[in-house]
Amino acid sequence: MSRVFVGIGSNEGDRLEHLSRAIQALGSTPGISVTQMATIYDTEPLGPPQPEYLNTVVELDTTRSPQQLLDALQLLERQLGRLPSAQRWGPRVIDLDILLYDDRILNEPTLVIPHPRLHERRFVLEPLAQLAPTLVHPVLRKTVEELLANLPVEQSLGSG
Ligand code: ADP
Ligand code: MG
Repeated sequence: MSRVFVGIGSNEGDRLEHLSRAIQALGSTPGISVTQMATIYDTEPLGPPQPEYLNTVVELDTTRSPQQLLDALQLLERQLGRLPSAQRWGPRVIDLDILLYDDRILNEPTLVIPHPRLHERRFVLEPLAQLAPTLVHPVLRKTVEELLANLPVEQSLGSG
Protein backbone atom coordinates (compact mmCIF):
# COMPACT_ATOMS: atom_id res chain seq x y z
CA MET A 1 0.00 0.00 0.00
CA SER A 2 1.38 3.40 -0.95
CA ARG A 3 0.67 6.82 0.48
CA VAL A 4 0.04 9.44 -2.17
CA PHE A 5 -0.88 13.12 -2.24
CA VAL A 6 -2.93 14.42 -5.14
CA GLY A 7 -3.48 18.08 -5.96
CA ILE A 8 -6.92 18.98 -7.29
CA GLY A 9 -7.90 22.21 -9.03
CA SER A 10 -10.81 23.63 -10.99
CA ASN A 11 -11.53 27.02 -12.52
CA GLU A 12 -14.42 26.37 -14.87
CA GLY A 13 -18.14 26.02 -14.22
CA ASP A 14 -19.30 24.85 -10.79
CA ARG A 15 -15.80 24.50 -9.31
CA LEU A 16 -16.88 23.20 -5.91
CA GLU A 17 -19.07 20.58 -7.56
CA HIS A 18 -16.15 19.49 -9.74
CA LEU A 19 -13.84 19.14 -6.73
CA SER A 20 -16.34 17.14 -4.73
CA ARG A 21 -17.25 14.89 -7.65
CA ALA A 22 -13.55 14.23 -8.28
CA ILE A 23 -12.92 13.31 -4.64
CA GLN A 24 -15.98 11.08 -4.53
CA ALA A 25 -15.00 9.35 -7.77
CA LEU A 26 -11.44 8.85 -6.53
CA GLY A 27 -12.76 7.16 -3.41
CA SER A 28 -14.87 4.75 -5.43
CA THR A 29 -12.05 3.80 -7.81
CA PRO A 30 -10.76 0.25 -7.22
CA GLY A 31 -7.37 0.26 -5.50
CA ILE A 32 -7.76 3.79 -4.14
CA SER A 33 -9.05 5.07 -0.83
CA VAL A 34 -9.17 8.71 0.21
CA THR A 35 -7.77 9.08 3.73
CA GLN A 36 -7.56 12.87 4.25
CA MET A 37 -8.67 16.06 2.59
CA ALA A 38 -7.35 19.60 3.15
CA THR A 39 -9.22 22.89 3.17
CA ILE A 40 -10.33 24.28 -0.17
CA TYR A 41 -8.40 27.38 -1.24
CA ASP A 42 -9.37 30.20 -3.56
CA THR A 43 -6.38 30.84 -5.79
CA GLU A 44 -5.28 33.49 -8.25
CA PRO A 45 -4.52 31.82 -11.57
CA LEU A 46 -1.01 31.44 -12.98
CA GLY A 47 -0.35 31.51 -16.70
CA PRO A 48 -2.77 33.17 -19.08
CA PRO A 49 -5.60 35.41 -17.75
CA GLN A 50 -8.45 33.15 -16.60
CA PRO A 51 -10.96 32.70 -13.76
CA GLU A 52 -9.80 31.99 -10.19
CA TYR A 53 -9.18 28.43 -9.11
CA LEU A 54 -10.38 26.36 -6.23
CA ASN A 55 -7.58 24.08 -5.06
CA THR A 56 -7.14 21.38 -2.48
CA VAL A 57 -5.02 18.32 -1.74
CA VAL A 58 -6.15 14.82 -0.79
CA GLU A 59 -4.21 11.95 0.71
CA LEU A 60 -4.76 8.50 -0.78
CA ASP A 61 -3.87 4.96 0.11
CA THR A 62 -3.43 3.01 -3.07
CA THR A 63 -2.34 -0.35 -4.41
CA ARG A 64 -1.90 1.19 -7.87
CA SER A 65 1.51 1.88 -9.36
CA PRO A 66 2.31 5.53 -10.17
CA GLN A 67 1.48 4.97 -13.87
CA GLN A 68 -1.76 3.12 -13.04
CA LEU A 69 -2.71 5.96 -10.73
CA LEU A 70 -1.98 8.57 -13.43
CA ASP A 71 -4.16 6.57 -15.86
CA ALA A 72 -7.01 6.59 -13.33
CA LEU A 73 -6.63 10.35 -12.73
CA GLN A 74 -6.63 11.12 -16.44
CA LEU A 75 -9.69 8.93 -17.05
CA LEU A 76 -11.43 10.77 -14.24
CA GLU A 77 -10.48 14.15 -15.72
CA ARG A 78 -12.10 13.13 -18.99
CA GLN A 79 -15.19 11.71 -17.25
CA LEU A 80 -15.64 15.00 -15.41
CA GLY A 81 -15.66 16.79 -18.74
CA ARG A 82 -12.12 18.05 -19.19
CA LEU A 83 -11.37 18.65 -22.84
CA PRO A 84 -7.90 18.64 -24.33
CA SER A 85 -6.65 22.19 -23.95
CA ALA A 86 -4.96 24.18 -26.67
CA GLN A 87 -3.41 26.37 -24.03
CA ARG A 88 -0.77 25.34 -21.50
CA TRP A 89 -1.98 26.11 -17.97
CA GLY A 90 -5.27 27.34 -19.47
CA PRO A 91 -8.66 27.06 -17.72
CA ARG A 92 -9.85 23.57 -16.83
CA VAL A 93 -12.91 21.84 -15.37
CA ILE A 94 -10.65 19.65 -13.28
CA ASP A 95 -6.93 19.04 -12.86
CA LEU A 96 -5.61 16.07 -10.90
CA ASP A 97 -1.86 15.96 -10.27
CA ILE A 98 0.23 13.42 -8.41
CA LEU A 99 2.29 15.49 -5.97
CA LEU A 100 4.09 12.80 -3.97
CA TYR A 101 4.06 9.00 -4.08
CA ASP A 102 5.69 7.55 -0.96
CA ASP A 103 9.27 8.72 -1.25
CA ARG A 104 9.53 7.66 -4.87
CA ILE A 105 11.43 9.68 -7.46
CA LEU A 106 10.31 9.22 -11.05
CA ASN A 107 11.41 11.03 -14.18
CA GLU A 108 9.42 9.52 -17.05
CA PRO A 109 8.40 11.51 -20.12
CA THR A 110 4.75 11.42 -19.02
CA LEU A 111 5.18 11.26 -15.26
CA VAL A 112 7.45 13.22 -12.96
CA ILE A 113 7.27 12.57 -9.21
CA PRO A 114 7.52 14.58 -7.00
CA HIS A 115 5.49 17.01 -9.10
CA PRO A 116 8.10 19.38 -10.56
CA ARG A 117 6.38 22.60 -9.49
CA LEU A 118 5.02 21.51 -6.13
CA HIS A 119 7.62 23.43 -4.10
CA GLU A 120 6.94 26.71 -5.96
CA ARG A 121 3.20 26.79 -5.45
CA ARG A 122 1.57 28.15 -2.34
CA PHE A 123 -1.81 26.74 -3.42
CA VAL A 124 -0.24 23.28 -3.26
CA LEU A 125 2.03 23.70 -0.23
CA GLU A 126 -0.60 25.26 2.05
CA PRO A 127 -3.11 22.41 1.78
CA LEU A 128 -0.31 19.82 1.72
CA ALA A 129 1.12 21.28 4.93
CA GLN A 130 -2.26 20.83 6.60
CA LEU A 131 -2.14 17.10 5.91
CA ALA A 132 1.58 16.33 6.16
CA PRO A 133 3.71 19.19 7.53
CA THR A 134 6.68 17.00 8.44
CA LEU A 135 6.77 14.92 5.27
CA VAL A 136 10.17 15.20 3.57
CA HIS A 137 10.41 16.03 -0.14
CA PRO A 138 12.61 13.19 -1.43
CA VAL A 139 14.55 15.36 -3.88
CA LEU A 140 14.82 18.67 -2.03
CA ARG A 141 15.20 16.97 1.36
CA LYS A 142 13.10 19.57 3.10
CA THR A 143 9.84 19.15 4.94
CA VAL A 144 6.62 20.51 3.46
CA GLU A 145 6.59 23.05 6.30
CA GLU A 146 10.09 24.22 5.39
CA LEU A 147 9.23 24.49 1.70
CA LEU A 148 6.22 26.61 2.61
CA ALA A 149 8.29 28.86 4.86
CA ASN A 150 10.86 29.28 2.07
CA LEU A 151 8.38 30.54 -0.50
CA PRO A 152 9.17 34.08 -1.56
CA VAL A 153 6.78 36.73 -0.29
CA GLU A 154 4.36 37.49 -3.10
CA GLN A 155 5.38 40.59 -5.01
CA SER A 156 2.61 43.05 -5.60
CA LEU A 157 2.43 43.94 -9.24
CA GLY A 158 3.53 47.47 -9.82
CA SER A 159 2.05 49.58 -12.55
CA GLY A 160 4.23 50.10 -15.60
P1 ADP B 1 -0.61 20.80 -15.65
O1 ADP B 1 -1.17 19.93 -14.58
O2 ADP B 1 0.89 20.96 -15.58
O3 ADP B 1 -1.29 22.12 -15.74
P2 ADP B 1 -1.81 18.91 -17.48
O4 ADP B 1 -2.78 18.57 -16.40
O5 ADP B 1 -2.37 19.25 -18.83
O6 ADP B 1 -0.87 20.12 -17.06
O7 ADP B 1 -0.82 17.68 -17.60
C1 ADP B 1 0.08 17.57 -18.65
C2 ADP B 1 0.83 16.27 -18.54
O8 ADP B 1 1.62 16.26 -17.36
C3 ADP B 1 0.01 15.01 -18.40
O9 ADP B 1 -0.36 14.49 -19.65
C4 ADP B 1 0.97 14.05 -17.66
O10 ADP B 1 1.47 13.06 -18.51
C5 ADP B 1 2.09 14.95 -17.22
N1 ADP B 1 2.56 14.75 -15.85
C6 ADP B 1 3.87 14.66 -15.51
N2 ADP B 1 4.02 14.50 -14.20
C7 ADP B 1 2.77 14.48 -13.66
C8 ADP B 1 2.28 14.32 -12.32
N3 ADP B 1 3.11 14.17 -11.27
N4 ADP B 1 0.93 14.35 -12.14
C9 ADP B 1 0.10 14.53 -13.20
N5 ADP B 1 0.50 14.67 -14.49
C10 ADP B 1 1.82 14.65 -14.71
MG1 MG C 1 -2.39 18.21 -14.43
